[in-house]
Amino acid sequence: MLIIGPPGSGKGTQAERISERLGVVAISTGDIFRSNVKSETPLGVEAKKYMDAGDFVPDSVTNKMVRDRLGESDVDDGFLLDGYPRTTAQIDYLDEILATRNQRLDVVLQLTADDGELMARLLGRAKETRRNDDTEAVIRHRLDLYHEQTEAVVAKYAERGILTRVEGIGTVDEVTERVILAGHSLLRP
Ligand code: AMP
Repeated sequence: MLIIGPPGSGKGTQAERISERLGVVAISTGDIFRSNVKSETPLGVEAKKYMDAGDFVPDSVTNKMVRDRLGESDVDDGFLLDGYPRTTAQIDYLDEILATRNQRLDVVLQLTADDGELMARLLGRAKETRRNDDTEAVIRHRLDLYHEQTEAVVAKYAERGILTRVEGIGTVDEVTERVILAGHSLLRP
């Protein structure tokens, strides 16, 4: 399963809840990058330049990282990927990884929210978390990239008939309820 949403849509929070419910591991490319930045690994040093500017980390770095992570044994019974793919080129790469593993995507969940709401949330989060990429100009750029690149990803999965859209406005519990209703057959314990 994939979870896709603009920055500030709450996809990380929902991904954790869904992964608990489904009993599958949640993998967030943003979290993997942030933990590498924190421990100053070569991957982290490389990724930081892009993350701080709100740019995508280049595919040469990101794709390999995802392939390595999906090569670990805890994903054998399924996984929830949060934050990847973000470009149509990444879709192709993920398709190849899945084909070699004999796995396929069951569902792609898109969380939606309008830009005004997202901006307000992210500026609020900036005060609490001090993420380097939560300044107004960088947030704007991340939202623009979402519209320019990641919406095309969503459209591709819609064409494949595996997209489910859920409104990401409301409390965390309300959104989780909506997700569960939307994917009731999948999420039934
Ligand atoms: P996130 O926590 O999902 O908002 O990701 C934080 C940052 O990590 C993004 O703004 C990008 O710089 C980088 N990142 C995460 N996932 C990807 C991806 N699939 N492709 C490129 N960059 C990514």
